Amino acid sequence: MLPKKVIKALEKIVGKDCVSLKKEDLLCYAYDATQITHLPDAVVFPHSCEEISKIMRLANEYLFPVVPRGAGSGMSGGAVPIKGGLVLAMSHLNRILEINEEDMWVWVEPGVITRDLKMAVEERGLFYPPDPASQAFSTIGGNIAECAGGPKAVKYGVTKDYVLALEAVLPTGEIIQTGKKTIKGVTGYDLTSLLIGSEGTLAIFTKILLKLLPLPPAKGTVLLAIRDLNALPSVMHQLLRAPNIPTAIEFIDDLCGRCVEEGFRLDLLKDADGWLLIEVDGTKNSVEEVLKFIEEIANKGDIDILKMENEDIWEIRRAISPSLYRLGEKKFNHDIVVPRSRILEMIKKIKSLKKAYNIPVACFGHIGDGNLHVNILFKEGEREQAEIVTAEIMKATLSLGGTISGEHGIGLTKAKFLSWEVRPEAIDLMKRLKRTIDPNNILNPGKIWP
Ligand SMILES: Cc1cc2nc3c(=O)[nH]c(=O)nc-3n(C[C@H](O)[C@H](O)[C@H](O)COP(=O)(O)OP(=O)(O)OC[C@H]3O[C@@H](n4cnc5c(N)ncnc54)[C@H](O)[C@@H]3O)c2cc1C
Repeated sequence: MLPKKVIKALEKIVGKDCVSLKKEDLLCYAYDATQITHLPDAVVFPHSCEEISKIMRLANEYLFPVVPRGAGSGMSGGAVPIKGGLVLAMSHLNRILEINEEDMWVWVEPGVITRDLKMAVEERGLFYPPDPASQAFSTIGGNIAECAGGPKAVKYGVTKDYVLALEAVLPTGEIIQTGKKTIKGVTGYDLTSLLIGSEGTLAIFTKILLKLLPLPPAKGTVLLAIRDLNALPSVMHQLLRAPNIPTAIEFIDDLCGRCVEEGFRLDLLKDADGWLLIEVDGTKNSVEEVLKFIEEIANKGDIDILKMENEDIWEIRRAISPSLYRLGEKKFNHDIVVPRSRILEMIKKIKSLKKAYNIPVACFGHIGDGNLHVNILFKEGEREQAEIVTAEIMKATLSLGGTISGEHGIGLTKAKFLSWEVRPEAIDLMKRLKRTIDPNNILNPGKIWP
């Protein structure tokens, strides 16, 4: 419970209408996509970086936790106020401030929805490539805090590759500017990189400068049915060495294919071990050339070419995650990454776990980056079993030289595995950085380390 004088002070900072203690509001800000829930004591809706700065000074005076929140679509519990306190909902900071066509950058506020930004710059012939599958509802602030990826990372990289500069409020209330408007710049420590992916624990972003590219004039898609998964490494190798590398190479396993078929009756995802959804972009000619090259690869292997319509194919991709609930009422969604040369071994390991523990384990995702979304489906009574399978997946990932999180972050769900991957000296350095920047452990406490 926050003291009355704190509530009064918050109302003075953001206005009475922008502070809520109502149970129904608290419930709406208590969860994220992990289904982990914890009620905050209050929710505030700040309008500016100055207001956030005052809130942080107040939090340090009265020692209550503050949790920044975008759309709450995070997959690792990052926005869940696990220690109570205040949720800082960024939905009023939602303006696209300036698009500079000549220097190809855009200033945005953190509450802007990812797809709105993408569409706004595309109207000017510009391109913001990061494309998390949650782009219709996730915010740019949340994307930066988690360093979101997405299908297009194969060719274009992830969120961090587009952040030029940040305005941010430190946990102790100071307002800082990091980075620069230029493409190059090495002045001092790279604080922008430190803050990207910091999962709402080191600073609150209030203004973001993003790099833009020219919008590619053409794109094409193709869906390949792989009848024997042993063909996968060779196909991947050839695709990744194509002169015009595909924009996206997404994998769908047989279990995901079955669930999508049961729901949508597409008569498309059957009679194969798995599918590859590939998108290419560039000029019209270069797109045609790469599609022809892919056709040649398919003809050489035991691979069928199924469909080439762009939006239909992405509809299938988007349908996978919700369709999997046919297999269980609860879901753990892991986002492991292995070196691309080890992907077949990882898929085989996942299949063996499914058999050994008799629990549905499906995988799909950004295979072009070696990034697989491994989904374990279970009923409430099977949680312990699902936890054991999770640990097996993390072990296998690390033994193949991979990493436990490619884009969802550590948050709450992977905190217990952090020390499996990161050496104690490095964890200690991370904790010392956190203590230096946030001496009272005010900002998003309880995340990253158990
Ligand atoms: C269906 C679905 C598909 C998804 N697909 C992808 C995908 O393809 N790729 C991918 O990377 N992720 C994906 N995600 C995960 C999620 O959408 C991303 O992690 C996204 O970046 C979270 O954005 P958000 O606005 O919802 O942030 P939230 O969930 O609200 O917050 C996430 C973290 O960011 C912090 N935060 C939020 N705003 C700020 C701010 N202004 N300053 C500082 N910290 C802040 C929070 O404290 C929290 O730690 C998916 C999620 C769903 C539900």
